[in-house]
Amino acid sequence: MRKDISTPQSTKAILEKHGFTFKKSLGQNFLIDRNILNNIVNAADLTEDSGVIEIGPGIGALTEFIARASKKAVAFEIDQRLLPILKETLAPYPHVEVIHSDVLKADIHQVIREHFEEGQDLMVVANLPYYVTTPIIMKLLQDKLPIRGIVCMIQKEVADRLAASPGTKDYNSLSIAIQYYATAETMIKVPKTVFVPAPNVDSSVIKLTIRKEPAVNVKDEEFFFEVVRSSFAQRRKTLWNNLTSQLVSKEKKDELLSILEKLDIDPKRRGETLTIEEFGKLADSLLPLVK
Ligand code: SAM
Repeated sequence: MRKDISTPQSTKAILEKHGFTFKKSLGQNFLIDRNILNNIVNAADLTEDSGVIEIGPGIGALTEFIARASKKAVAFEIDQRLLPILKETLAPYPHVEVIHSDVLKADIHQVIREHFEEGQDLMVVANLPYYVTTPIIMKLLQDKLPIRGIVCMIQKEVADRLAASPGTKDYNSLSIAIQYYATAETMIKVPKTVFVPAPNVDSSVIKLTIRKEPAVNVKDEEFFFEVVRSSFAQRRKTLWNNLTSQLVSKEKKDELLSILEKLDIDPKRRGETLTIEEFGKLADSLLPLVK
């Protein structure tokens, strides 16, 4: 069997051959551990008919494992210097296509239409660049792509937030934004030693499974997220203080109070104690008051 791209020796040889130097600003930490790569791909539950979208293939360490487990893969890479390297390392996998693009600017719907079959099982699998973890995950969810889910390596502290429950220290507006669209589970914790160069932070692999319907049914999605953000604007403040300083004008305080009473939400609670269902009801009731 062919030697993996990701062994420490192969990685070193590939980098040296091409004179490649890491760009910290692009979050370039490449994986050199076959166990972790196997675990990431296994978490995605791929079949031989699956399609995969990868973000940031680097020199192809994870791409190779994805290629072996799927029917077709498309990888978005922003760094032009990696394209000739990927052409070489991924030559044995003609069903992998590399697109030179910033994934945040890409029309992913269009790419899916062009490269995958209608109704094909689709997963996003990635070792994400940490400087843009949240914008990438939010784009993937908000674009409402026809995907089953996302398995990705991210900073442990962000992973903890994504999967947090109400009332815990990690629960914030990001937890709610993610859990609105998907269920989140942490699959594995990952030490720094499996990357070159080693990042400064610990990592986790998380799996997001897209819900068929959002977690709550709200009248205005954008306003729902505005209410959530306002409620967490200052973490130590009460819900009342945050809502009255961020969202509801002075003249409408009485109406806000009666809405909270009707919903049985104590204004002295903090945003972090509200469940996604409570935020949903709150947003729908506040809509006529604020909009
Ligand atoms: N998948 C490889 C691995 O696991 O070894 C590399 C992962 S490395 C953490 C992140 C990769 O994302 C780098 O190759 C980097 O150039 C690329 N990247 C950074 N920002 C990007 C963006 N906005 N769009 C697409 N790729 C990006």
